[in-house]
Amino acid sequence: MTESLWAEECDVLVVGSGGGALVGAYVAGHEGLAVTVVEATDKFGGTTAYSGGGMWLPCNAVLRRAGDNDTMEAARSYFRAVVGDRTPRELQDAFLDNGAPLIDYLERDEHFAFEVLPWPDYFGLAPESRAGGRHIVPLGMRGSTLGDLRDELRPPLPTERRGHPLPRWVSGGQALIGRLLLALSEQPSTTLYRNSVCDELVLENGAVVGAVVVRDGKRTKIKARRGVLIASGGFENNAEMRKRWGVPGDTKDSMGPGGNMGAAISAAIKIGADTDLMGEAWWSPGITHPDGTSTFSLWFTGGIFVNDAGERFTNESMAYDRIGRDIIDAVNDGSLSMPYWMIYDDREGEVPPVQASNVPMAESADYVHTGLRHTADTLEALAALIGVPGPALEATVERFNKQAEIGTDEDFHRGEEAYDKAFVPEGGSALVPISQGPFHAAAFGLSDLGTKGGLRTDPHARVLDAAGSPIPGLYAAGNSMAAVSGTTYPGGGNPIAASVVFGYLAALDMAGGKD
Ligand SMILES: Cc1cc2nc3c(=O)[nH]c(=O)nc-3n(C[C@H](O)[C@H](O)[C@H](O)COP(=O)(O)OP(=O)(O)OC[C@H]3O[C@@H](n4cnc5c(N)ncnc54)[C@H](O)[C@@H]3O)c2cc1C
Repeated sequence: MTESLWAEECDVLVVGSGGGALVGAYVAGHEGLAVTVVEATDKFGGTTAYSGGGMWLPCNAVLRRAGDNDTMEAARSYFRAVVGDRTPRELQDAFLDNGAPLIDYLERDEHFAFEVLPWPDYFGLAPESRAGGRHIVPLGMRGSTLGDLRDELRPPLPTERRGHPLPRWVSGGQALIGRLLLALSEQPSTTLYRNSVCDELVLENGAVVGAVVVRDGKRTKIKARRGVLIASGGFENNAEMRKRWGVPGDTKDSMGPGGNMGAAISAAIKIGADTDLMGEAWWSPGITHPDGTSTFSLWFTGGIFVNDAGERFTNESMAYDRIGRDIIDAVNDGSLSMPYWMIYDDREGEVPPVQASNVPMAESADYVHTGLRHTADTLEALAALIGVPGPALEATVERFNKQAEIGTDEDFHRGEEAYDKAFVPEGGSALVPISQGPFHAAAFGLSDLGTKGGLRTDPHARVLDAAGSPIPGLYAAGNSMAAVSGTTYPGGGNPIAASVVFGYLAALDMAGGKD
């Protein structure tokens, strides 16, 4: 294939259409470059379109205008304390120092507008952690503002996976991608293609000079004069890659859309790109639905998780990735099997106290019929239904209730960090006793928001080879790159923030590059 002529040419070829890809495309186009975007599926937006659209970008103008008194020194201390030395300092600095300039860049264009959404940092005890977070979201807008582009935008999860009607108001990640698509539609030198999978990179004299894209079954060779930006998400839906790299969890429980198969990451590995953090993902507990999937769940207003011995194993109010890592540890040490159970009482009724399952829950009866939800008058009877020792479950609940009474969780410190309390109603507690029968158990699994191991990059988002040298013409951002956050999830909005910042840096580097 590679010996044939170029079918198309551009300056910058962007692979994928999530936040980092479209920011990269926007910035490259704005800097005067001709851009081609190729998206594998029939919709633009990737996981970003499902998301809250939150971005952790310390000290940006939106936060500043709202009176935020954070400093870059504080943000750096926090990020370093959480991430440690698992990723290079220069990469961390590139991420931290370029969030605010990116927002300045975008806000010069009236298509972009953001607001603060206070969201506590995920490690509340780390130095310089902020209870109000460092988090902004795009302003929502009427769906009709998008016109025909709405049909090309990946719909939100309730619509895509449960058939709910499209909301009239576009918000969160929908608004982020919507705004980017609107801006790109006015950029004359940018072309966007759907149903186009990039699965091969073209190398000439050690430099990436283009790529092969499979569009409607036909292989097309696209020349990229300045470079190729791989911002095509993770490989969460590729079972073979997950197995090969040892990523805990299952494709069916991943939140990423179907196109996130890692084809472009594999193409880069094939031409000598180095990788890092390949066994990593952004994890979460996931409520298990009758269709067998377990989806990213947060905002618990009660309940405890128990392991096979009927004992608690985590702080259930912690940030989801931290709970996910406790789940993985417990599975690895043999104390937890799937499904594991959330135990809760009847104060909110039979539906588990999970306020955000991201994919809406089905009818209650369907969980009961599929054995994913059990109810009993006593904890002992409930324990028998879920296969854990009755006396142990009774003792666990008794101890938890005593701790709830005194307001201190001596075992897992639930309720002690700002994030733990973020979803607690006014005057309430993160420690809600389990005392009002009947008692219920809901099945849970391990979900992920996508993998986060990928191509190793330098601070300009240039992909590195095994010797640590940049491969000319090749860039990566978002979940396609080895995450700057390493093995942690420092705060809500980190995944998209890293995607958009490195997409921006890649585009600026290509704009500064020579012909
Ligand atoms: C419900 C939910 C809420 C979330 N909320 C937040 C939040 O508020 N803030 C936050 O930071 N994170 C959030 N996340 C996580 C975040 O959405 C993702 O980690 C992030 O959007 C990934 O962005 P990306 O740019 O790497 O890739 P994606 O947005 O996943 O985009 C990748 C795109 O590339 C395409 N693609 C893949 N391979 C190819 C190929 N070979 N050729 C062409 N195209 C290809 C895919 O089809 C896809 O469209 C949330 C996740 C979920 C599920």
